[in-house]
Amino acid sequence: MEAKIEELKSQIKGRLITPEDKEYDDARQIYNGMIDKHPGIILKCKDTNDVIHAVNFGRENNLEIAIKSGGHHGAGLCLVNDGLVIDLSEMKKLEIDAATKTAVIEPGNLLSDIDAATYPYGLALPSGIIGSTGIGGITLGGGTGYLTRKGGLTIDNLLECKVVLANGKIVIANKLKNPDLFWALRGGGGNFGVVVSFKFKLIEIKDVYAGPMFWPIEKAEAALKFYDKITKNASNDLYGFFAFLIVPAAEPFPENLWNKNVCGVVWNYTGPREKAEEIFKSIREFGPPILDFVGEIPMKDLNGMFDGLYPPGYQWYWRAHYMKELSDGAIQVNLNYGSKVPTMHSTTHLYPIDGAVHNFGNNETAWANRDARWIQVFAGVDPDPDKVDKVTNWCKNYFDALKPYAMGGSYVNMMMDEGQERVKAAYKDNYERLTKIKGKYDPKNLFHINQNIEPCE
Ligand SMILES: Cc1cc2nc3c(=O)[nH]c(=O)nc-3n(C[C@H](O)[C@H](O)[C@H](O)COP(=O)(O)OP(=O)(O)OC[C@H]3O[C@@H](n4cnc5c(N)ncnc54)[C@H](O)[C@@H]3O)c2cc1C
Repeated sequence: MEAKIEELKSQIKGRLITPEDKEYDDARQIYNGMIDKHPGIILKCKDTNDVIHAVNFGRENNLEIAIKSGGHHGAGLCLVNDGLVIDLSEMKKLEIDAATKTAVIEPGNLLSDIDAATYPYGLALPSGIIGSTGIGGITLGGGTGYLTRKGGLTIDNLLECKVVLANGKIVIANKLKNPDLFWALRGGGGNFGVVVSFKFKLIEIKDVYAGPMFWPIEKAEAALKFYDKITKNASNDLYGFFAFLIVPAAEPFPENLWNKNVCGVVWNYTGPREKAEEIFKSIREFGPPILDFVGEIPMKDLNGMFDGLYPPGYQWYWRAHYMKELSDGAIQVNLNYGSKVPTMHSTTHLYPIDGAVHNFGNNETAWANRDARWIQVFAGVDPDPDKVDKVTNWCKNYFDALKPYAMGGSYVNMMMDEGQERVKAAYKDNYERLTKIKGKYDPKNLFHINQNIEPCE
């Protein structure tokens, strides 16, 4: 094997890291501090050619292969013990064409890189709410955030992918070329090949009227009902995710609220400025918020607002449900568990996935849950490894208690390693078609370190 590794090193522009190398321990760190995997080889690719060599090397030497972009996935599926990690984090080309409002983005870019690059043009890509998330995983799993109601999921803005397949060949997937693969990539995760570049359309957004608004925990029931009502018939310009949380004991939060359990909404209004005042006047009339940071803000700053609170290396355990409605039973479960958020970084969020997401049907892309109104995520998070059980148990118990009121299904981007039934549930009746496409593009399941879709002939 040593000779083969030396040969591979001579073929690539990037770096090949093995357990003997000084940078090995850094290279195997990922966002979730709970994950401690020891790959045999980490190949930090510089370009598409490196990726091709990596895929061929892994396949020819029967190595298990994991694909890493931003390293954010909770389950740590971007690493594999003893196997080969195709690390794309240094492939960071990003080109914006302002005239066509499109961007070609390599998978090493984080959401913060994309925000910084698109903002000066008054453009944005609908994606997630934390800047350190990688564009690779979030896109292939769906992608939801502050611009979801206005611009849809990240995949709804995807025009094309360049993919290195299991056989080492490069293909383009778009609506005309390999349309089956393009359909599968929009939600099907890392199952079909290594995506070495994404082409997106961008939407026109610069500054927005947005930010968090909190109410006392005692008002949570009324606040949830009010939030449900006001967002149900709102235009796609109004987005808000509901949260139960503990106020961080840090600036800019006022000291009298530090460490208090509260509920709240993080809003994002993308419509005309004059209308914003009118809409938020009625929201503020619901009951005086105990914190109101809603105001004009650059879109890129809204996207980065909570980055400082969630640095890499914390312990993460999370799960998610799709929700269609907030029935009385669902509200009761939320009051029970939401008011007992176990640590300051733990939280539950209800991410809206209505608005523009509903412009497509469940079978138009692999992402099969467009009839839901929210993804509700339960995130058990803490810097202290001794709190792993505490945050994990809260998350699991909350998830179980809300299950009778949820739609079934799961969001592959917000899952742990939860088993094959949960993966199937994510794709509902799209699963069978996905297994056939997997059978065509990766018949031997070379790419199986993921939320795996098993190939069929
Ligand atoms: C703090 C935090 C905030 C988040 N916020 C949001 C949010 O607002 N909205 C949302 O929708 N999700 C959110 N997520 C979930 C996020 O979308 C997933 O964790 C996603 O998988 C992260 O992508 P990544 O590239 O960083 O992860 P990685 O761990 O690098 O990749 C995850 C998986 O995706 C596949 N993959 C990645 N890149 C490629 C590629 N180029 N080619 C083929 N397969 C690939 C691989 O199977 C890999 O195992 C968040 C996660 C965290 C931890």
